[in-house]
Amino acid sequence: MDKWEEMLTCALACHRCGADLGPQDKRILSVYDHRPVCLPCKKEEEQRPDYEEVSRQMIGTCMAETEILYSDPGGYCFHHFYPFACK
Ligand SMILES: [Zn+2]
Repeated sequence: MDKWEEMLTCALACHRCGADLGPQDKRILSVYDHRPVCLPCKKEEEQRPDYEEVSRQMIGTCMAETEILYSDPGGYCFHHFYPFACK
């Protein structure tokens, strides 16, 4: 397991609203601050007027920046768009 997976996939609470996240609860990363949030919070985030632009920029810089830090930058970056559960 990569470090980011330990840190992010098994977060115990939504970083935005503080809702408890169980190991099987789906979570997703915010394109704004890369923190794990619950799905209702992600829905809210998607309503922001700048969401599309921010997510487009995020994926571009994310792949470049995390290539050095993580062995699997694609996995990390795409977790901003696909919900996942703690393994
Ligand atoms: Zn939340």
